[in-house]
Amino acid sequence: MPYLLLGIDDTDWEGGGCTTYVMYSFIKYLVNEGRIDKVIGLPRLTRLNPYIPFKTRGNASLSVILSIDDEGEAEDYVETMKDLIDNMVKPTGKTSPGIAYVVLNDVSKINPRLTWFYEKAIRDVVTMDLARRVAERVGAKLIGGRGIIGALASLGFTPRDATFEFTSYRAEDTERPIIDPYDVKLWDEVTGPFTFLNIDGEHVLIEPHGPDPVLFGVRGDSPYHVLAMGNYLANKYGAVGWILYVTNQGTGEHRSHASSIVPYRYADITGVIVSLVFDEHGHAYLTLDNGVKAIVYRHLGISKDLSKCIGCLVQVWGGVKPDDELSIYVEGIRVLHDRYVEIRNPKCPICGGPMESVGRSGLLRCKRCGFEDKIPRVFEPRNQWFYAKPRKSEYRHLMKPGERIGLEGLALYMPKPSLWVY
Ligand code: ATP
Repeated sequence: MPYLLLGIDDTDWEGGGCTTYVMYSFIKYLVNEGRIDKVIGLPRLTRLNPYIPFKTRGNASLSVILSIDDEGEAEDYVETMKDLIDNMVKPTGKTSPGIAYVVLNDVSKINPRLTWFYEKAIRDVVTMDLARRVAERVGAKLIGGRGIIGALASLGFTPRDATFEFTSYRAEDTERPIIDPYDVKLWDEVTGPFTFLNIDGEHVLIEPHGPDPVLFGVRGDSPYHVLAMGNYLANKYGAVGWILYVTNQGTGEHRSHASSIVPYRYADITGVIVSLVFDEHGHAYLTLDNGVKAIVYRHLGISKDLSKCIGCLVQVWGGVKPDDELSIYVEGIRVLHDRYVEIRNPKCPICGGPMESVGRSGLLRCKRCGFEDKIPRVFEPRNQWFYAKPRKSEYRHLMKPGERIGLEGLALYMPKPSLWVY
């Protein structure tokens, strides 16, 4: 039986819309047509390179795998998706919708070129021309504008690690309800660690603040935990519908070991801090001995850990952005060797009192009993090896939260829930 892999991207605009909502509407069409069983697995929400300049918000693209009887059926689904996009999208400003699709006889054999393209699109900047060449080589078809990049990339998502998101929607032209932190805290405690990044103190993290139709999204490693929490909140806060996506969010898949500094690409660099300057806002500006510059924003909550770190050997990772110069926007930092050593005077060997230096002779004198001698100073290494990660509210979609460590790959063993769209 053949399969259709159908991807979409770039259907949202500054004033509204959301690509996940277009996919949701497509899935609802299948429900209404009695064809929901055609969906293989769950629809896929793929986040791409968070550092590209032309994204609107979270650089999301979406795809779905459908079982089909023949190519004619595939064309029908593509036409339906096209009509949906034409009706739902206001192509203003940067918005440039795109569709990508391919018909395969065996979904377990995704062309490695497609997977390569997906991996490149999450870490690097790719051109429409490259998307067209890859599509030609893998037999995929492309329709539309710049969105073809994300749409094609989403087709190449072959997860080794994955998570789920319960995405709920609000009625058009309604005010966003304020989600009570108490509700989220309670569910966070009950469903953790199988849901993540729900709340940071009193700050609710599941709710977007833009004009898009998303009411909230609950992310997690277990579809059943996100469904339980999502259902309760969807009911309480008046969602008009919801869907469960399988995603690459929280997997850290965008991390690479690239040690070169290329604009908008991911970098992971090791070096010794030779200069560390804090500006008036508390942001830290690092220069490493290899000339690499990195910016650690104060709101990540890790810059204070860096004080007195000049001379430390560190590993920094994040995306490269060209402002005045090329700098890594730090997502995380690890001190591999702490060079900071405190030198202090020893205690008096006679009475145990505090000792002070006497002039430049190297002599030390006891403040209590007056004993004087040339005795060595005490060298006390700070030995501060730390792994600094941002506070919860500063996580971007692809970054892997600490609570996920050890849960990698769990999602791939989770059976598909029987009710996954409403
Ligand atoms: P939302 O999260 O609300 O869906 P968005 O942040 O995903 O919005 P889009 O409007 O989809 O933003 O715009 C992103 C555009 O960038 C799309 O046209 C997509 O094809 C393109 N794109 C995505 N990743 C890359 C990449 N790595 N290189 C070049 N272009 C990319």
